[in-house]
Amino acid sequence: MALGTLFVAATPIGNLEDISLRALRILREADYVLCEDTRTTKALLDKYEVKTPTISYHQHSGPGKTAQLLRYLGEGKNLVLVSDAGTPGISDPGSALVASALSEYGGKLTVTPLPGPSALISALSISGWPVDRFTFFGFLPHKKGRQTMLKDLLDSSYPSVFYESKHRLAKCLREIIILKAKTGKRVDMILARELTKMFESIYRGSPEELLGLLEKDVDMQKGEFVVLIRKIK
Ligand code: SAM
Repeated sequence: MALGTLFVAATPIGNLEDISLRALRILREADYVLCEDTRTTKALLDKYEVKTPTISYHQHSGPGKTAQLLRYLGEGKNLVLVSDAGTPGISDPGSALVASALSEYGGKLTVTPLPGPSALISALSISGWPVDRFTFFGFLPHKKGRQTMLKDLLDSSYPSVFYESKHRLAKCLREIIILKAKTGKRVDMILARELTKMFESIYRGSPEELLGLLEKDVDMQKGEFVVLIRKIK
């Protein structure tokens, strides 16, 4: 029997209209949708009247769940892997399942991307900075390794992008200001907040200016953020 296909589908990072026609078709035609959180993905599936059954698959899913999904692929079933928002595998679960499926079936298995939104690419696209090359750091660690990563961000020759929680954003700006003072470097930053959502806002400036804005208006500290930083001469 022919193997099924494992599709890896990007889904909206806010605005539910940001989904490709192809992704919707494949979501409808597939046997199962593998969701990081079935309730989150259900909002998207309901909007487009996709009735495909969902299966929960996330970072804590054990080997039993993975084995079941590999069996489905072996039986010729087509699976679509999605995360709560954006592109699976990018600071999200996804790569472990792809790796397990490839190790089980090797080159006989088709793993296909259904491209679409990713918060980091969306933020880079409106930066106005030359971003032919950039460094993506994922989430800043909360504690261990945080200072080293911040130092790496400031040392990078290319614009850097990272994800930071609203709870630590002001702290992160303060840490950058201290590091900047120590090293004598000048930097330019962008905070891309709530992209594609009702309160989408883009703040541009020095870390001092951005911290000033955050401290003046607590509403600015709500929502999800992508942070961009680059060195300036
Ligand atoms: N895989 C996703 C992607 O491709 O963008 C990223 C998932 S990661 C768990 C979630 C983080 O992405 C959030 O904490 C935030 O930093 C960023 N993010 C996701 N959606 C966003 C949005 N609409 N606006 C700004 N940042 C967003």
